[in-house]
Amino acid sequence: MESHAKSRCSTFAIYDEALRARLCAVALATVAQEDDTDDMRLFLCPTCGHIEPNLPPASCPICAARAEQFVQV
Ligand SMILES: [Zn+2]
Repeated sequence: MESHAKSRCSTFAIYDEALRARLCAVALATVAQEDDTDDMRLFLCPTCGHIEPNLPPASCPICAARAEQFVQV
């Protein structure tokens, strides 16, 4: 029982790390393009935190949330 809980916890930690890396990559890309993309938009998935630049995807590649659920940030 306890080892099962631990394995779920570590899976979440890996996922969280990947999410952080993704957010960092988006932030860096945004800074790099700042000169010519003043109105660049980012869309945040409220369910899993996935961020898509420019346009929300038809569905979230991480959690399959619909495009209309994405929030512009
Ligand atoms: Zn999502």
